[in-house]
Amino acid sequence: MKKESSHDTIPDLSKNAATVLEKRYLRRDAEGKVLETPAHMFRRVAETIAAPNKKFDKKADLKGLADTFYRMMTNFEFLPNSPTLMNAGRQLGQLSACFVLPVGDSMEEIFDAVKFTALIHKSGGGTGFSFSRLRPANDVVSSTTGISSGPLSFMRVFDIATETIKQGGTRRGANMGILRVDHPNIMDFIMCKADQKQLNNFNISVGLTEKFMQAVERDEEYDLINPRDKKVFGRQNARKVFHRIVVQAWENGEPGIIFLDRLNRDNPTPHIGEIESTNPCGEQPLLPYESCNLGSINLGKFVKDGTVDWKKLKTVVHDSVNFLDNVIEANNYPLQQIHDMTHANRKIGLGVMGWADMLILLGVPYNSEEAVKLGKKIMKFINDEGHLASQELGKQRGSFPNFQGSIFDTKGAPPMRNATVTTIAPTGTISIISNASSGVEPLFAVSYIRTVMDKNVLVEVNPIFEQIAKERGFYSEALMKKIAEHGTVHDIPEVPEDVRRVFVTAHDITPEDHIQMQAAFQLYTDNAVSKTVNFPNSATMDDVEKAYMLAYETGCKGVTIYRDGSRDEQVLSTGKKE
Ligand code: ADP
Repeated sequence: MKKESSHDTIPDLSKNAATVLEKRYLRRDAEGKVLETPAHMFRRVAETIAAPNKKFDKKADLKGLADTFYRMMTNFEFLPNSPTLMNAGRQLGQLSACFVLPVGDSMEEIFDAVKFTALIHKSGGGTGFSFSRLRPANDVVSSTTGISSGPLSFMRVFDIATETIKQGGTRRGANMGILRVDHPNIMDFIMCKADQKQLNNFNISVGLTEKFMQAVERDEEYDLINPRDKKVFGRQNARKVFHRIVVQAWENGEPGIIFLDRLNRDNPTPHIGEIESTNPCGEQPLLPYESCNLGSINLGKFVKDGTVDWKKLKTVVHDSVNFLDNVIEANNYPLQQIHDMTHANRKIGLGVMGWADMLILLGVPYNSEEAVKLGKKIMKFINDEGHLASQELGKQRGSFPNFQGSIFDTKGAPPMRNATVTTIAPTGTISIISNASSGVEPLFAVSYIRTVMDKNVLVEVNPIFEQIAKERGFYSEALMKKIAEHGTVHDIPEVPEDVRRVFVTAHDITPEDHIQMQAAFQLYTDNAVSKTVNFPNSATMDDVEKAYMLAYETGCKGVTIYRDGSRDEQVLSTGKKE
């Protein structure tokens, strides 16, 4: 093992972070012995990702750049997605979290996609598919004069393949399955996860079209189309289908919905193809065979003397764009088609985590107009600066190869290195590593019980709350336990009123507050926003339906809802029983 040098220490590394890193991120030998410290891991990543600068600038100061990358990661100001941390500078070298694969309507194409999925999962990536091109169940198959089994039975094949691979114990494997709302098997698709034992390696979303949404608004029927011959297969009542989606989502959180026409309205390269799917958590629409690497800025680290440190934020945005563009170069792609497509569009997804932390440090409640306004301001700043950084890289390194004919190709337009720059990821694991609140979510709870890696149960107190409680003299272990059992501080008198006001949690706020925040960030995000809209157990189907309509009206690109207690297994839970 390399000797630890004095500047290779990480003062802010939390105990949870150290555990997660050791279990899944650090390099090991064939016997499973850990070969590196977290500091070595960040060095390995920083040096590997700095190296591509040399390709474009012979005089590049690689050591200086690696130090910059190292510092922004170990200060937890920015982290790339998990595969970059796990694989950079190692033999596998696959650095992206997100892939979309095409599933064509033939045995060859379907089983090619299964094989490609296996290769991607082995490397720690997640895959999204649209199954909309598959002919419906019981449709004719000319070569065998038999009948087709339809998209759902093929989805099971992908599910079992995922289950079997389990990614060598690092990541379990995750898929997104999408079916267009005008596919003849749409009702079966909506119901396909009603049995909670089915398709556990899939998130599913219905691809809604504008035409369908209009039919819902007007209470009309719409056409179901057979993808094999593009002919009308039958008709359905739009409200009936919409209601089925709502009922299922209310029952157990799935299916989610995505607005396909919106994804394509913002498709930066329509001349290359149509967007039909996103990655597993929905934040990254991609063309078939495209991959994307994500990275997130931890906003909690950008509050200085009670205000936003814009200057530091600007610097970190520019460095992060350089980082993520270099990831495309350093990446080892599992397939030639993915290499080619990713290099041609060069999509990156810079986003944020620690948004709830930032609001708390600024003294602004998450469920306030001020928070929504600030969310827009922050994301606009990151998006604008991110685009400027991509333009600067474009001047030096050239635009992404599919620039000509893209939405950026206008008269006198500057070069652009990346077809997209911003995405808001869930930051499920990297927020644990950073000890930050995840993505743009409110705090799940001020103190809670977390089940990690199957069955390890941890009681955790939000670090900012703990610090404030200690500074202001109301900290006690008994109080922390009481809060953990209660799940919220809003009716706990031992906590001062001004503290209660800002420590709002996912369950203290309304679904409308969740959606307004998602919409605020979506406004200035090239790709999409990962967000869960939490409902209390007592919410009605009507509440869910209203939330879906609000997401549609406020310009969101999709919605995922979760009604507390509606699934057999829950990753996070407060002690409180509703
Ligand atoms: P992280 O915090 O580990 O970097 P996120 O929770 O932000 O990851 O998820 C980002 C994307 O990474 C997801 O949308 C998905 O594409 C991919 N991903 C997440 N978890 C998994 C997993 N277990 N297996 C495969 N891909 C995953």
